[in-house]
Amino acid sequence: MRELAIISGKGGTGKTSLAASFAVLAPRPVVADCDVDAADLHLVLAPVVRERHDFVGGRKAMIRESDCTGCGVCLSVCRFGAVARLSRDGGHPDSAGAPLDCRLCDYGKRACSVRTDSLIKEMEASAGYSERDRFQSDPAACEGCGVCVRFCPAGAIDFPEVRCGEWMVSETRCGPMVHARLGIAAENSGKLVSLVRREARRIAKAEGRDWIIVDGPPGIGCPVIASVTGADMILAVTEPTVSGEHDLERVLSLARHFQLPSAVCVNKWDLDPAGADRIEARARSSGARIAGRVRYDPSVSRAQLRERAVVETDAPSAGEMRRVWDFIEQEMKP
Ligand code: SF4
Ligand code: SF4
Repeated sequence: MRELAIISGKGGTGKTSLAASFAVLAPRPVVADCDVDAADLHLVLAPVVRERHDFVGGRKAMIRESDCTGCGVCLSVCRFGAVARLSRDGGHPDSAGAPLDCRLCDYGKRACSVRTDSLIKEMEASAGYSERDRFQSDPAACEGCGVCVRFCPAGAIDFPEVRCGEWMVSETRCGPMVHARLGIAAENSGKLVSLVRREARRIAKAEGRDWIIVDGPPGIGCPVIASVTGADMILAVTEPTVSGEHDLERVLSLARHFQLPSAVCVNKWDLDPAGADRIEARARSSGARIAGRVRYDPSVSRAQLRERAVVETDAPSAGEMRRVWDFIEQEMKP
């Protein structure tokens, strides 16, 4: 079983078009759509879902109003602006700029030998707090770091696991496909990518499949790292533009860091032939192989609209995509 991860430094390079064509060309593949933030391989492969699972991948702070003393510590310590102070008298919510000096921990009230309540109330008022204020966390802004939970002196913040999305096992005309959908503003896409790959490997092993074709996310962040680690080879798809060239450098340095064999395909090369030459020269000097070039081809969009991979049509670029696959197959021969 061989695992190919197709990635790109930036979106819109044609990575998914190549992934769909490879899924069609590869003998007995399992397809893993690891672009969980913006999955679109299903638009071409038209999967029929046979299993659907929740993805529980993070926690969110939830303030229990009944136990909250209104001390404001959570507002002070949250670095993501996810806690708001809401004034009960109709004042504006305030999610930033809380005073960091006084946290109303009550220590003074408990420890002060004189216990001058009026003085303490005066200090509290000068710190900007009022007994009428209440505090609320915003689940969309909460990063689940848990700092407020740790520092809340009243233990008034729950920290439950939350559903961040779902993952599916489907049937396609090429074979099984594992894919996922991350919820809006949900975190932990790297964890979800790892889950999708793990499941794809399990199916490949159980069914004796020959290939795993991974359609990775763009960029070089956590979900990309989760998509490529342990793969047998990465194919970096780029285009001859300034950003394409720059982002390819970053992708190849990631591949070098993880000591992954890499190959490069320049898509839409004819938009700037000199740029394509330059990209290939730089890729070679970075230790990557050149898998081939694919021309700019408006038929690619038409194939997608018909839910077909490019190699399933008579698009002019279909032959070039086949040649890129032949190269990959040759390079990854066991
Ligand atoms: S730290 Fe706890 S007690 Fe203080 S305002 Fe926040 S939730 Fe309420
Ligand atoms: S868990 Fe972290 S991000 Fe969420 S509200 Fe608490 S401090 Fe802010």
